[in-house]
Amino acid sequence: MKLPPRSHLLPLQQEALLVAGRIRSQRDHALFTLALGAGLAARAIAELDVGHVSRDGVSIREQIETARSDRREFWANHNGRVLLPRPVRQVLAEHLASTRASCPHFSRPMRDVIGPDGVQRCASCRLATDLVKVPLFLSRRHARLSPRRIRSLFADYRGQLRLPERLNFDSLKATFDAAA
Ligand SMILES: [Zn+2]
Repeated sequence: MKLPPRSHLLPLQQEALLVAGRIRSQRDHALFTLALGAGLAARAIAELDVGHVSRDGVSIREQIETARSDRREFWANHNGRVLLPRPVRQVLAEHLASTRASCPHFSRPMRDVIGPDGVQRCASCRLATDLVKVPLFLSRRHARLSPRRIRSLFADYRGQLRLPERLNFDSLKATFDAAA
């Protein structure tokens, strides 16, 4: 029997991680699903805005949309494209629904302000009023999740689930790559 390389998650470990994410936080579940199901590393995920995966903040694109000028080879999982399989799209749609539910401004007009970056923002939650400009993954304080934070989140789950120390967030991408 051929054993998988040491940096990969076994199917049961993947399942345990996804279930634990589902229980603890929709966001974490979506993070792990995207990394495992589309082959994205922490650095690539941290750069995503809602607009990269959705035209309208509701429906999910079949592949991640990047600007033509972007040099982001580290995103690509197939001929330079990052495909979003149906199960991943479904989880992302639920994730966007919970993002939209996080502040009433997504469903009714509220006071807004122009941020120091020139972006029109909700005066209450400070997120961009245009959902497609909001980072796809947010911290509790509504800041973009950094690659470092994504990696430390994974380490929390790894401890909780008693997964091997050698695994890190980017082992999810390695697991995807090995299966592709
Ligand atoms: Zn708001």
